Amino acid sequence: MARTVIVTGGSRGIGRAIATGFAQKGYNVVVSYAGNEAAAEETKKLCMENGAAEVVLYKGDVSDENSCEELVKNVTDKFGQIDVLVNNAGITRDGLLARMSAEDFDSVIATNLRGAFLMSKLVSKPMMKQRYGRIVNISSVVGVHGNAGQANYSASKAGIIGMTKSIAKELASRNITVNAVAPGMIATDMTAVLTDAQKDKIKASIPAKRMGEPEDVAGAVLFLADENSGYITGQVLGVDGGL
Ligand code: NDP
Repeated sequence: MARTVIVTGGSRGIGRAIATGFAQKGYNVVVSYAGNEAAAEETKKLCMENGAAEVVLYKGDVSDENSCEELVKNVTDKFGQIDVLVNNAGITRDGLLARMSAEDFDSVIATNLRGAFLMSKLVSKPMMKQRYGRIVNISSVVGVHGNAGQANYSASKAGIIGMTKSIAKELASRNITVNAVAPGMIATDMTAVLTDAQKDKIKASIPAKRMGEPEDVAGAVLFLADENSGYITGQVLGVDGGL
């Protein structure tokens, strides 16, 4: 029977590359997204072309408990099991501290951190029952080092790391691993807003002298989600070109 993965925020960027990677391994691929139908359909097409057993698209908000409950129930009813969860959905609302609104702080924490909490909690039940599971959370290099203009975002990504390590300890005895990947600067819509001058400055500070590609992150996620990675848990794997 094919294994099943849920990739939140799988319609674009890093999430799309992760979904496609699981498709290549023959998984049932469930992709959640916020609202970009065209991008979600494109991910579905790519997953089917790359060997997915089945592909399901789910439009919903990861920060909304009812929406997450509906998603997990739909997936459990349809496939009977959830083997892998990748908490990838994320947003930015950048601004310097003095100018950052409380709304911009709350919305980033809600999507990036509360969303990962809700989804992890919900999938932990079927995973504990089946005594198998892999949860991979997408953090960020700024969750470790901080970044001016990203107090909300870096707090959410640091929170992901603390949550990953705590949940890993809770679930280890059930054969469920929980790890985080901390990407550096990856070429997606999220970083497309930077000017060429900003990108050049960042690239100069990266030992690999290039931005990462979504596939670079997907490779790390697939490794941590592999059946053979069962003794690796509570870890944070940097994918940042040496940054
Ligand atoms: P993108 O902006 O390209 O894609 C974001 C994805 O998240 C989309 O699929 C979007 O759906 C979905 N999404 C946004 N909000 C919600 C929500 N409330 N509920 C469900 N889905 C949602 O981002 P990236 O691919 O660049 O980033 C993916 C992850 O990697 C994020 O967690 C990000 O913080 C992290 N990261 C990215 C880095 C980078 O340099 N790009 C570096 C470090 C970490 P829709 O298409 O419908 O809008």
